[in-house]
Amino acid sequence: MDDDVLTTLKILIIGESGVGKSSLLLRFTDDTFDPELAATIGVDFKVKTIAVDGNSAKLAIWDTAGQERFRTLTPSYYRGAQGVILVYDVTKRDTFTRLENWLNELETYCTRNDLVKMLVGNKIDKEENRVVDRNEGLKFARKHSMLFIEASAKTRDGVQCAFEELVEKILQTPGLWES
Ligand code: GDP
Ligand code: MG
Repeated sequence: MDDDVLTTLKILIIGESGVGKSSLLLRFTDDTFDPELAATIGVDFKVKTIAVDGNSAKLAIWDTAGQERFRTLTPSYYRGAQGVILVYDVTKRDTFTRLENWLNELETYCTRNDLVKMLVGNKIDKEENRVVDRNEGLKFARKHSMLFIEASAKTRDGVQCAFEELVEKILQTPGLWES
């Protein structure tokens, strides 16, 4: 088994403001959660190396730094990405309804159409406030050829899996990551 770092993958996290994008990233990279995370606290990107199928992949995971509020994600944000995590909040219907807009934006700006997409329904710890069924998420994901998982940045549920399954799929896609 070869433990060399294969490559650096560019992963994007997109979706409506407040769905938990920065929280999912912080849970994944630092294993922390801040219930009062300020919208202004966003990073450009965080780097983390993970082991997948006995190989290491270095991930540069790009957060929006709150710019999605003003709908100003730039073409350079999207450029060269191999994977994208599209997040909605299972307790906010409008964040689910607006998923199509995000996919349209991806299609406009992303140069490659073999990009791997993961749909994440976040905040499942707030089960009593849930308004989007798991099955609705699953159906949307299937329709748009996306991977799908429900998660909670607060409880860790699904967070590791979301990133790992995305990376696994990227590494299985010929031509997507080899230079
Ligand atoms: P972003 O705008 O998409 O980056 O969202 P943030 O990560 O800033 O999260 C917005 C708010 O939702 C913050 O107050 C977070 O603490 C909270 N939040 C994020 N993920 C979860 C979660 O899984 N469960 C709960 N209960 N709250 C969350
Ligand atoms: Mg954020």
